[in-house]
Amino acid sequence: MNAEILSVGTELLLGDIVNTNTQYIAKGLAELGINVYRQSVVGDNRNRLKKSMEESLERADLLIITGGLGPTKDDLTREVAAEVLNKKLILDESILQGIQGFFDQIKVPMEKSNHKQAYLPEGASAIENPQGTSPGILIEGEGKIVMMLPGPPRELQPMFDNHVKPYLSKYAQGIVKSKVLNIFGMGESTMEALVEDLIEEQHNPSIAPYCMDQGLILRITARAGKESTADELIRSLEEKVKARLGEYIYGSDNESLEEVVVKFLKNKGYTLSVAESCTGGLIAASITNVSGASEVFPLSIVTYSDASKINLLEVPKDTLTGQGAVSKETAIAMAKGIQKVGGTTMGLSITGIAGPGGGTDKTPVGLVHIALAFKDQVFHEEKNLLGDRNRIRLFAAKHGLNLVRKAVREQ
Ligand code: ATP
Repeated sequence: MNAEILSVGTELLLGDIVNTNTQYIAKGLAELGINVYRQSVVGDNRNRLKKSMEESLERADLLIITGGLGPTKDDLTREVAAEVLNKKLILDESILQGIQGFFDQIKVPMEKSNHKQAYLPEGASAIENPQGTSPGILIEGEGKIVMMLPGPPRELQPMFDNHVKPYLSKYAQGIVKSKVLNIFGMGESTMEALVEDLIEEQHNPSIAPYCMDQGLILRITARAGKESTADELIRSLEEKVKARLGEYIYGSDNESLEEVVVKFLKNKGYTLSVAESCTGGLIAASITNVSGASEVFPLSIVTYSDASKINLLEVPKDTLTGQGAVSKETAIAMAKGIQKVGGTTMGLSITGIAGPGGGTDKTPVGLVHIALAFKDQVFHEEKNLLGDRNRIRLFAAKHGLNLVRKAVREQ
């Protein structure tokens, strides 16, 4: 079976919204082993929508259309599909009652325009939508399947998972499974060089590197007749990748660096306090994003000025005047200071020049010193980061978290 996905909506063409529906559906179809041969987007325009549907139906066995099922005049998907498939639109009383029930529940009167959503092309069946008013629509016949799904992702995603995927599972060709390895601390080209031969050799499982905002990822994807075989294929390639990239892999799938750090600290029974300068609280914000972080993270201070570093962290004035606020010595003094103030196993500090102004020959923009006081040891890292202010601050914070992860991991 080959599939196409057609998204309807002028706001997609204008770039006002990102087409996450297509991504979601494409991933789900890949898991079923259904090949997606084409994805397209068309605006809320009757003629172009009709032409797109006709063309897709000439090529594809399965056409999934998203959006344009709403009550307003520019929601054309239902009508145009009926026309293309040469079917009459017929009022379905039970759908109408369902829509009425939805409005009764939220205590809002139903508009006349909502009646439109209760019409189905002849021979079609409705796909339940507990999150909204537009049911999905399924039509199967003459060797083709057409599915129409509502645009809002919070309606589309449960409908796709709970109804569309189970329906299509009879056409599934084995399964396709992926595992993502999250990597931090090395450049994209270094990573690629280390696994280049694996990328070139492998077809099943395949391996693909991506550079994301949060760092690098490697996606391993296997196709097999059954899930356990796919898992085994992934596992054997994952082992090879781990042997090459080792400690640079901090987690898998949706696991974030801060989640891993909090998990490690909890497992070891360690606590962490943080003193931030150039990152202005970014490390604290990401750690406190993790539910339950309070168990291991009692304190964080943003010490932006020299005075606050001296007064709150007992950084010696001589260190600041002699070596400078952005120096190894200051970072170490800050780390020891916050460890003492917080009474924690670990004290992490970060000081740097985020730019765009303020750089000198000795302390250029992007220079960041990170220190970690850990029991009675001290670790220090110097980083020279590239990019704008946002990127430098973000990556400085991530390097800070990564230093904690590496230190705990080695214990
Ligand atoms: P409604 O009943 O809410 O009108 P609809 O099926 O008519 O639903 P649209 O009007 O096309 O859907 O889109 C409604 C909203 O859903 C959009 O404003 C947008 O926020 C979101 N949306 C639509 N299509 C997509 C898409 N492909 N990817 C992500 N979000 C989308």
